[in-house]
Amino acid sequence: MDKLYFLTAGVPLKAGTKGYKRGFEIHDEMGLDGLELEFVHGVRISDKSQEDVKASDKVITAHAPFYVNLNAREEEKVEASVQRIIETANVTNELGGYSITFHAGFYMGNSKEETYAKIREQIKKITDELEKTGNKIWIRPETTGKATQWGDLKEIIKLSKEFEYVLPCVDFSHLHARYNGSHNTYDEFAQMLELIGKELGDVAINNFHAHLAGIDYSSKGEKRHLNLEESDMNYKDLLKAMKDFQVKGALVCESPNIESDCLLLKQYYATLLA
Ligand SMILES: [Zn+2]
Repeated sequence: MDKLYFLTAGVPLKAGTKGYKRGFEIHDEMGLDGLELEFVHGVRISDKSQEDVKASDKVITAHAPFYVNLNAREEEKVEASVQRIIETANVTNELGGYSITFHAGFYMGNSKEETYAKIREQIKKITDELEKTGNKIWIRPETTGKATQWGDLKEIIKLSKEFEYVLPCVDFSHLHARYNGSHNTYDEFAQMLELIGKELGDVAINNFHAHLAGIDYSSKGEKRHLNLEESDMNYKDLLKAMKDFQVKGALVCESPNIESDCLLLKQYYATLLA
């Protein structure tokens, strides 16, 4: 990617029920760069919406269904999860998308090592299948907001090293919540970006996919998303660090007010470049 793009998580609220076409017009009016397709309740998008997405010049990412657990005890649930991720990757690729993300799974009482091995095996199935069909979209496990969910930054970096088209989706708000308030200073953001660059190389910094929102949390981790100004999420220092590390790619705003915080982020970032 040539710069950092600011995306809304789904169609802007102001579009109401008018769909993607109106959503992209709002992006143009506000100066925003694209959106993440929210397949959270299933990989469904109407033919009309598909046409609108294909016709747009926006940056497109996708979020796979929440109902994914690559470490489920029942083999049929694991297989269904694999299929949901493949389906998300295929539909998004057909629509000209850049990257897809998903919550890979839960530890289910297993050790970190056992969980890693099981998830790795499933990611191999997914990437083998995508390779067969020539689909080279980025496949991204997301950093998660609770200690019961697989996916701290180190685990996702380790997995990314093993597969050509796997990179992290760094949800900075999830990490801030997962560790009950840390991961929220310039130095901590810089350390994370430095680690990603060191372990995965420039390709990861130049093809970033991040999530950001205000967030409420407890010692158990993530509770709910908030608007940025109602939360303690230190987005200003995060954007400073992203600028200093020359991060390029897609930053998806997941605040409840969607496009308002997305604009807030883009405008603050612009002041750093000025
Ligand atoms: Zn997510």
